[in-house]
Amino acid sequence: MIGRSASAPYPSTSNSSRPNSSGPNAPTQNPTAPPSVRPGRPAPSALPAPTGAPSRSAAARRTECLAQLAFGTDHLRAERRTACPWCGGTRLRTRLRTGDLLGRRPGRFALDDCAACGHRFLNPPLARSGWDFYVRDFPVRGPEADRFGRLLTPAGTLRSRARSLLPYGEPEAWLDVETGTARLPVAAREVFPYTALDGVGVAGIRAALASGRIDAGFRGRLPALAPGLAGRYDALSMFHHLEQCPDPRAELRAARTVLRPGGHLVIECADPASLSGRLLGRWWAAHLQPRRQRLLPAAALCAELETLGFTVLATGRREAHIPCDLAAALALALAPLLPRDRAPWRRWIPSRAQLRLRKALLAATAPLISLARCADHLLAPLLARTPFANSYRIVARRGA
Ligand SMILES: [Zn+2]
Repeated sequence: MIGRSASAPYPSTSNSSRPNSSGPNAPTQNPTAPPSVRPGRPAPSALPAPTGAPSRSAAARRTECLAQLAFGTDHLRAERRTACPWCGGTRLRTRLRTGDLLGRRPGRFALDDCAACGHRFLNPPLARSGWDFYVRDFPVRGPEADRFGRLLTPAGTLRSRARSLLPYGEPEAWLDVETGTARLPVAAREVFPYTALDGVGVAGIRAALASGRIDAGFRGRLPALAPGLAGRYDALSMFHHLEQCPDPRAELRAARTVLRPGGHLVIECADPASLSGRLLGRWWAAHLQPRRQRLLPAAALCAELETLGFTVLATGRREAHIPCDLAAALALALAPLLPRDRAPWRRWIPSRAQLRLRKALLAATAPLISLARCADHLLAPLLARTPFANSYRIVARRGA
């Protein structure tokens, strides 16, 4: 049974009580469904282990982090690939080299382009220990990261995403993958007030459910949870998720499992062919390292979906363009100039004066960021129609 928030528009806690859920295509109760997070109740012991940063003291986190870095960063990387992990092509060219611009963690990262399929990927990739270090255990936090995150998901973009399935009818149950703070379900509720809006992710699910932003939440990664959610949804969204997950093909297979026949999948990804990426280089938000593991070309993704039995109904760049490139680039360019924040990977703890100066400079740069943001929004109607569009959207329908 799926957990439901008290503020959800449905009086019952059962799936079968959802409006529109009594038809022949209604989701059925699955006894193997993974446990969901429920508001106001302690987590069942069967919940997947938390995959966000574990709660421990700042001193312990710092000690652990510095121990990881004591032998450099080479052990955080796997072997360099000599072939494209998507198509197997061997004609690779390094597109750019960069560092962790936002978190300023140690390490250099290279993005390679595959000449055969256009796939851009981190090479060498992160090892498992590197994934844990850079993504799971020591994520970048703080006001600077929050500001950057807000730039990437302006309200207009969320509304556009919420309306992406409007031409295909009203879904009964929509699962948003890596929903985070569930801003997308909130926007989707404005468009589809009678749709059950659920979320899955490794962080933020409990808070999203407690706040009533989602009707049910599942903590963990979709490939692991999919068998228990098989055939439960008729809509599933992955907005800029495939760039950051460990295995995009596993995510697509899991999406097929979770969707009912005829269900719709909507995907948005940063476009490696965008001229904005070529122009802005390491300052392009989609090139942010080490978080972005890959940029998949739209054609390759469509071909993979067809292989999995999906029918691609629509592809486009105009609606998917995010008006953020200039503001995000400015934020990334300013980040290394600010005094360093307190972080577990820093050997020296900044003084109070340094932290106060950092806070003041962050506030002082806010008007500049706002100006760049205005320019992004003014230029968006033009850029979205040109090769400078930074993202693409695919809508596909699952076959029988
Ligand atoms: Zn390739």
